[in-house]
Amino acid sequence: MLPLNRNTAHSSVAGDCLLWDIGKKVQLVYTGNMKYIDEFRDPTLARSLLARIAARSTRPVRLMEFCGGHTHAIMRYGLRNLLPPTVELRSGPGCPVCVTANADLDHAIALARVPGLILTTFGDMVRVPGSTQTLQDTRASGADVRMVYSTLDALQIARDNSSRPVVFLGVGFETTAPTIAAALLQAQAEELENFSVLSLHKLTPPATRAILDEGEVAVDGIIGPGHVTTIIGADAWRFLPEDYAVPVAIAGFEPLDILRAVADLVDMIEDGRPAVANTYARSVTRQGNPAALGVLSSVFAVGAAEWRGLGAVPASGLRIRDDFASHDAACLFDIDPGPTREHKGCLCGDVLRGTVVPPECPLFDTACTPAQPIGPCMVSAEGACAAYYQFGQEFE
Ligand code: SF4
Repeated sequence: MLPLNRNTAHSSVAGDCLLWDIGKKVQLVYTGNMKYIDEFRDPTLARSLLARIAARSTRPVRLMEFCGGHTHAIMRYGLRNLLPPTVELRSGPGCPVCVTANADLDHAIALARVPGLILTTFGDMVRVPGSTQTLQDTRASGADVRMVYSTLDALQIARDNSSRPVVFLGVGFETTAPTIAAALLQAQAEELENFSVLSLHKLTPPATRAILDEGEVAVDGIIGPGHVTTIIGADAWRFLPEDYAVPVAIAGFEPLDILRAVADLVDMIEDGRPAVANTYARSVTRQGNPAALGVLSSVFAVGAAEWRGLGAVPASGLRIRDDFASHDAACLFDIDPGPTREHKGCLCGDVLRGTVVPPECPLFDTACTPAQPIGPCMVSAEGACAAYYQFGQEFE
């Protein structure tokens, strides 16, 4: 639902445009007709949105960007420092690699050590430290760990190695889970019995709810994840205004996308009118992607999941349905990863809950760097610590 016919701003899904009425001066910010990426980085339009935000923002607000992709875009374009001092942006738990609990990482690492087994995974996961090792360390000591760019690659490895078990390490949110589900459907259709998935997938709305329920960090508005919401639909976030009186603006990943979301959030906060604003209408609909959701629910069932920083969150994970048990690595392999150990001094859990920002971690840019990461938030391309390390100093 977009906020329509306000006194100060009008937005429409159809044209996906903004009309800002700043005093007597009317400015148009079009996004629906934009074609090239540079148009979403237009400095003049960015300045218009920033002026609008500054004019409307009368009191300190803290907005949480759920998604690690947003954190990286915000840091890359220096948006935190361009916003008025009344608007604070805080990272949330939206990096799937980062929120994977050490116990689950240890499980995957132990799985990789099963003789003859091929563990396939996306690149980020290989360098994430478990309790004592990374998958990369395990590979160095002889395990067959292979990075893939898609589950199609993992399926092909299974076809090419029919005498060996091939496991895909499934980590991600609602965005990637449908592709993993499609791979399982394909494996079943081909009777590819040596292919299985270790599902560590997670759902984003329950994590947002957990953070708000915890109440540890005051959040006045949420920048909603654009890719996830493309799948689940904007209506999936209605609980935020309805149950918590917290507005949410679904955003894309370019500077104008994010500034527009911030502008909508500031408007809703100032007006005391929390709602769901869809500022990424070129990708997100109210209902989401029914085909992807259908595939997802045919393969996965919702269950509890363990999140780094949040602990066990009810109904926040995706487990493989019993119909696909012969492709469920959690059922197929009896793994004892041993005791879990957290990384001493690492504040990743606090970063993911939004209670601290990365530079507040004593290890940030001292013992912990992208070359020698101590926690996953410094490893992942969506990790907040990596974003602050890569771009933070340029704008502080
Ligand atoms: Fe963990 Fe490193 Fe981030 Fe500190 S800087 S929270 S040690 S990943």
